[in-house]
Amino acid sequence: MPLPKNRIVPEKKIYYRAEIENCPDCGRKLKRHHTAWKKNIATLQGVIQVWNMAYHCPDESCGNTKRYFNSAQAGALCMKHTSYGFDVLALVGELRFKHHLTIGEITKELNERGVATSERNSMRLYERYLTLLRASVTEQVRLELERVVQVNKGIMLSMDGVQPEKGNETLYVVREVFSGLILSAKNLKSGSAPELQTLLQPVKELGFPVIGLVSDGQHSIRLAMEAMWPEAPYQYCQYHYLKDIAKPVVDIDRKLKTGIKKSLRGIREIEKQIEKETSAEAEIAKDYLAAVRSILLEDGNPPLDLPGIRIFENAQAVQQSLENSLAKKGAHAPEKGSQNLQ
Ligand SMILES: [Zn+2]
Repeated sequence: MPLPKNRIVPEKKIYYRAEIENCPDCGRKLKRHHTAWKKNIATLQGVIQVWNMAYHCPDESCGNTKRYFNSAQAGALCMKHTSYGFDVLALVGELRFKHHLTIGEITKELNERGVATSERNSMRLYERYLTLLRASVTEQVRLELERVVQVNKGIMLSMDGVQPEKGNETLYVVREVFSGLILSAKNLKSGSAPELQTLLQPVKELGFPVIGLVSDGQHSIRLAMEAMWPEAPYQYCQYHYLKDIAKPVVDIDRKLKTGIKKSLRGIREIEKQIEKETSAEAEIAKDYLAAVRSILLEDGNPPLDLPGIRIFENAQAVQQSLENSLAKKGAHAPEKGSQNLQ
């Protein structure tokens, strides 16, 4: 029963590429082939539009041109046929089982956190959460994996931990990447490597060849997966991995952005003062004010494109330009816009 399509406009687009970059058989660099899927996903960090790009080995003589690799990380964002992130699902579970909220209260809580939903949807999310926790390697799953092995020469596994609230349990999900099948999911407090291995054990017992392991930067996940399949190549999810190591930088950058925005707040007053002026100077000042306004709208795309740094650099450029034009004019009284860029 698919959830209704999310009609909210996404805040940003994220393109995911396959984590595996080279053909496991011939070692050639994989080439982008098509878009595996694209959808809007409501997460606790806002709505994102996710593009999952499929790659393949371009070498005909390798004989695997029809084997398509896509991003495990993109697949790990939400369950198939839903448009809500795993973080939202995990939160629903936590609100229900730890805080004993009713569906009505959960709906209110989600809406307050910026996740647009109705009671009906919350109920379905709750049911999905229960389904998720029941995931296991059943006979049907084994048969499906057998087909995956026939087509792809093996299975690829990913494991992720989702923590909707700090200091609580983490929801760990094990997936097969080619098929998107969820093989197991469990809430764990510590998430130590030996504990995580118990989630992987039933998969190992199937004895299928594993041609790749993918996870984010969490050390215990890597240890657990590598202990189970020491021969399989291991890939970090670049995006997640970067986000983890970049978090302190992103936090500082956010403060920088807030600070600059605060110091630029004075422009409203200046705008009012020169609103009715028509002199050439006033027109130039208006252009500068428009430039400053547009700077304030910048939001970047962390962690690689930091909004605070971007605003800072643009504000500096405006300031430099202002100073240059003032210098040209001679020691005339500075336009009021300049002092606000300090
Ligand atoms: Zn190949």
